[in-house]
Amino acid sequence: MYHKSRGSSTSRGYRRDQKRSFRPKRNNNSLDIFLLKNPAIEQKQEAYVAKHAFSDFAIHDQLQQNIIERGYETPTPIQDQAIPELLSGKDVIGIANTGTGKTAAFLIPLINKVFSNRSEKVLIVAPTRELAVQIEEEFRIFAKGMQLFSALCIGGMSMHHQIQSLRKKPDFVIGTPGRLKDLEKQGKIQFMLYNNIVLDEVDRMLDMGFIHDVNYIIHKLPQKRHSLFFSATFPSNIQEITTSLLRNPVTISVKPQETLTNIHQDVIKTNGRMKIDLLHDLLIQVEFQKVLVFGRTKWGIEKLSRMLMERGFKVASIHGNKRQNQRVRALEDFKNNRIQILLATDIASRGLDIDNVTHVINYDQPASYEDYVHRIGRTGRANKRGTALTFID
Ligand code: AMP
Repeated sequence: MYHKSRGSSTSRGYRRDQKRSFRPKRNNNSLDIFLLKNPAIEQKQEAYVAKHAFSDFAIHDQLQQNIIERGYETPTPIQDQAIPELLSGKDVIGIANTGTGKTAAFLIPLINKVFSNRSEKVLIVAPTRELAVQIEEEFRIFAKGMQLFSALCIGGMSMHHQIQSLRKKPDFVIGTPGRLKDLEKQGKIQFMLYNNIVLDEVDRMLDMGFIHDVNYIIHKLPQKRHSLFFSATFPSNIQEITTSLLRNPVTISVKPQETLTNIHQDVIKTNGRMKIDLLHDLLIQVEFQKVLVFGRTKWGIEKLSRMLMERGFKVASIHGNKRQNQRVRALEDFKNNRIQILLATDIASRGLDIDNVTHVINYDQPASYEDYVHRIGRTGRANKRGTALTFID
């Protein structure tokens, strides 16, 4: 059961920097929250015992060192199972959510491969700009000191800069499908040169309508290639892509529940009260330190953002109508604890790797169980505890 702790209002949640700022006040109505336990989403998991240590993998010393510096001690289940297969050159289908460590599962063997043979080139395709940015950030950490270079090719950013980066013949290109295709059509990138391909979060790419762009890219790849495919779910329309992309793949499945063990889940029944008031009462509690609030529509998120700001909360929002630089700034502010609350549509629910999110609040219910899992997976990461709360009428 979620406890209604009566933590005093803290300095978080109000704006000190503006004259008209004021401290969010507790509403007159008591915190009349009905909390229901949902046994269907309670899970007990057996701990996974890794078969390998990172030091068991036959990878270069500098890469080993970078893994240590990144603070990884033991491979996660997807890393433990995928890295040996990828090092031996096998195509892999990874059924894994974000939060499972899948990024390092593909980056580590591929960085090792390119470092051993500089004629290898890697193309990584991700559904969202945010995820692509994050993958590139991870790449830089794992490839530190190895003289490997990357280009980030995502929509919403200057094409000119991306074309300049591509001219330098990067070892890794990381991008979103639409922008990659545009660059290819302009002759700025030749997919034929990329003999290693990673499709990340393929189910998401299909949800976002990228199927044609993804197929376009696959058909331009060289026949002889190393292909990696990651998806949290495996809907039937994905089959077409796996068949055309992969050769004798090894399938590694990391059950989605494994990411949920650290998350305390509850629902909050509105019981006739305004959701905004309930949210307000939650956000002023002391333990709600870093809160990600999900809404269904861009418009709804904008409205909620305005209402919370009027009540004195420090918030930022990300959704499809925001310019890329606004999204990047919002994420950075949230990551670096300059704001307490980030509001987002589902575009943000996948792939975002933000440390120490204490609470995920589903202000609007997610459209599917998969979306629910992806949203709440933003908290309870890297062995931290998190709480996910869902408003229901
Ligand atoms: P990902 O699923 O790739 O988005 O990773 C989820 C989170 O787990 C990120 O914060 C990673 O830095 C972290 N992570 C990945 N692999 C490990 C590991 N072996 N040990 C500790 N943390 C990890």
